[in-house]
Amino acid sequence: GQRPQGGGQMPLELPTVRSIVTVASGKGGVGKSTTSVNLALSLVAKGLKVGLLDADIYGPSLPRMMGLRDAKPVPSKEHQGKMIPPSAFGMRIMSIGFMIEEEQPVIWRGPMAMGALEQLLRDTDWGDLDVLVVDMPPGTGDIQLSMAQRVPVTGAVIVSTPQDIALLDARKGLNMFRKVNVPVFGLIENMSYYKCPECGHVDHIFDHGGAHKAADELGVPFLGEIPLDLKIRLGADEGKPIVQTEPEGEHSKAYGLIADKIA
Ligand code: ADP
Repeated sequence: GQRPQGGGQMPLELPTVRSIVTVASGKGGVGKSTTSVNLALSLVAKGLKVGLLDADIYGPSLPRMMGLRDAKPVPSKEHQGKMIPPSAFGMRIMSIGFMIEEEQPVIWRGPMAMGALEQLLRDTDWGDLDVLVVDMPPGTGDIQLSMAQRVPVTGAVIVSTPQDIALLDARKGLNMFRKVNVPVFGLIENMSYYKCPECGHVDHIFDHGGAHKAADELGVPFLGEIPLDLKIRLGADEGKPIVQTEPEGEHSKAYGLIADKIA
């Protein structure tokens, strides 16, 4: 088959990492990073050892979402050539965002971006992990393809909003995973509905149920729905993810139910 060029061609092995879960989406802005962070925290809450990798090379947002804007990885004394990544909320987090200034655009072509991603994976001292959650770049380009081919991904989850157009893109992602034989855990519908915190009225701002229907059609599990909620947005922007700040809240329960299905 055809492989994207760049980087080595050997499969990447991460001997201290028991499983790798990728979080993908057809397009940007659907809440893939927000979902990655809150799912990773739900896995920590289940007592698992969790790492989080920001593979969104062109738009790293995890340093901000995890409250780590000024953090930097440090060289490991124990493991030559490896970096110990910053930690927050009980997990190690690695991102290209720790290496570049926030205002700097990343202008690498595919092969260079893949090289950088491989380094982040391989040269990070992850320690023993039950699960490494990988926040993928949106879409189905070179990076996604070579990740799927070179890294032993345990399973992928696909995040989508209910709108048809977003779902079309999610279908593309699903087909890509199938082609490269990466198991798909299923679809998550984000921004599924809006419940007014004052009166409890529910609005389906971006339509509703689309992801569930698509999952049925495509023969993959529907993993759950997360509403559009100001607290989720503020938590992500302020580096205080909702699963951390309101562990007993209804949103954390929803993320927790999804986490149960992936690890
Ligand atoms: P992506 O990784 O798909 O580009 P992000 O996770 O960065 O998307 O989310 C895009 C924006 O939407 C962010 O401002 C985030 O806080 C917000 N957001 C994501 N999910 C929700 C949600 N369920 N409710 C409210 N805001 C959300």
